[in-house]
Amino acid sequence: MGFVEYYSAFKAYSDINSDEYRKRIENLEPLLMKFMKTRGRVLDLACGVGGFSFLLEDLGFNVVGLDNSKFMLEKAREFAKEKESRVEFIEGDARELPFENNSFDYVLFIDSLVHFEPQDLAKVFRETARVLKPGGKFILQFTDLRALLPVLVNGQVVGAEYWVNKVLPDPEEKTVVIEFQSEKDSFRVRFNVWGKVAVELLAKLYFRKIGEERLNEHSYFQVYEPK
Ligand code: SAM
Repeated sequence: MGFVEYYSAFKAYSDINSDEYRKRIENLEPLLMKFMKTRGRVLDLACGVGGFSFLLEDLGFNVVGLDNSKFMLEKAREFAKEKESRVEFIEGDARELPFENNSFDYVLFIDSLVHFEPQDLAKVFRETARVLKPGGKFILQFTDLRALLPVLVNGQVVGAEYWVNKVLPDPEEKTVVIEFQSEKDSFRVRFNVWGKVAVELLAKLYFRKIGEERLNEHSYFQVYEPK
């Protein structure tokens, strides 16, 4: 059971040249540009294979990508070579950032909440507030999995080859194991279930919300400033 299978299976996260990944970039680029008018130093937190890091580099930002997965970072570095990118990809933990206080103008945290339990996400937010410069911006995009869960049905197609075979929430619905199935294999992944209300309550401890856009029924783009 694991995220390596999940990210290998879904190109939307693992192949920056795929249509699925490009679509995510196309959806977010206008919003990023709306809230990132001045150029500066960006931390792409939990950067995965780096698609958003490369986008912002192309747009004139100075970008550092950080992730704790060797698998994702290896791909990010391969894409960097292919693109002759100068983004620095660092292996590290979002809960304990290896950066000085006040060192970034922006921290980007895209589509990554499912990896974090509440006490861990609190650490990520605290660290983000610490490394942001005063007046810097925290850009957060997430899916409200709590709202999505009841409509996540068996048989629902995900990506090009897989469908949801089983949805197995724990009794308190703090986490859910989803079994993905294709013609050739199946695997399970455990996600932390975050709802919008809980994310905002936690964020409020460290940040002031200064912008929000709804991307679709269950997905949000939010912008915060450190308190
Ligand atoms: N932000 C990227 C994007 O939108 O393409 C990647 C999103 S991917 C869904 C989530 C990423 O979070 C994975 O690359 C995973 O390795 C990373 N991650 C999970 N736990 C982490 C941690 N404690 N510290 C840093 N990265 C982490």
